Amino acid sequence: MGEEEGSQSLNISGFCALHDAHVHLAFMNDRIQVAKDAAEKGSMLFSNTVVPSEFEPHAAEMQPYSNVFVGLGMHPWWIEADDSLRHDILSCYLDLIPKARYLGEIGLDFGLKHEHTRDAQVEFLTGICRQAAAEGGKVISIHAVRSAATVLDILEETGCISTCTCIFHWFSDTGSSLNRAIRAGCMFSVGRYMLASKRGLSYAAQIPLAQMLLETDDPEGEGVTWGYSAIAKALVSAVFSIAQAREKHPQGNQPTAPKELSALLSNNMHRVFL
Ligand SMILES: [Zn+2]
Repeated sequence: MGEEEGSQSLNISGFCALHDAHVHLAFMNDRIQVAKDAAEKGSMLFSNTVVPSEFEPHAAEMQPYSNVFVGLGMHPWWIEADDSLRHDILSCYLDLIPKARYLGEIGLDFGLKHEHTRDAQVEFLTGICRQAAAEGGKVISIHAVRSAATVLDILEETGCISTCTCIFHWFSDTGSSLNRAIRAGCMFSVGRYMLASKRGLSYAAQIPLAQMLLETDDPEGEGVTWGYSAIAKALVSAVFSIAQAREKHPQGNQPTAPKELSALLSNNMHRVFL
């Protein structure tokens, strides 16, 4: 389905370009075309990698596209339980940090499936954040499942929270961790997966607009053909869901109309990434 076709029921006239603050272009077979099409629409994409060995080749192929920012990633799902292998990967990651302004996807996942590498994940994230904090100025996309309080502890202890821009992607943890992250000045990238739950919608109504970005977190698996129109459609639909959620729970005098929201969220992307 084409972008225009898919957005038919949504009135998007006057919308500015929407940007994706968390996407996995390296999982897409057609990533070069996606980057080109996004550039044509004035759309910026933060492409997250999941292991550090992906970073340099992906950054090289995206080099001609100034609208694409490639993140140096070490996704908690890919963290090795084996000590020596993990230490090799961590040292490879740390060597690459000076070359990367954008880090992601990194974080912690204490869900049942990944709980067994909990200590290894904490060790990895702490190591990354310590160096990122020392260098400063990084933009970081963070995965936090049942672990936001520990992530916030690490960001604070290492100083990362004050020297870097920390973005929680798809925030799904407790309300108290959400408030703590808001007070700490973190950003939040919000997309349709988060907006599919009642809790996610309620969070989308609470997060101050100045701290919000849009995301797709697509695609779910590797080796798929995606198309920029699918990204654009998901971003538009996220704006409408956020607008609807905020209309029900207005925050002071912050706008709730989709068009004004899209302009504000677009400005946030410019402010954080450029
Ligand atoms: Zn992701």
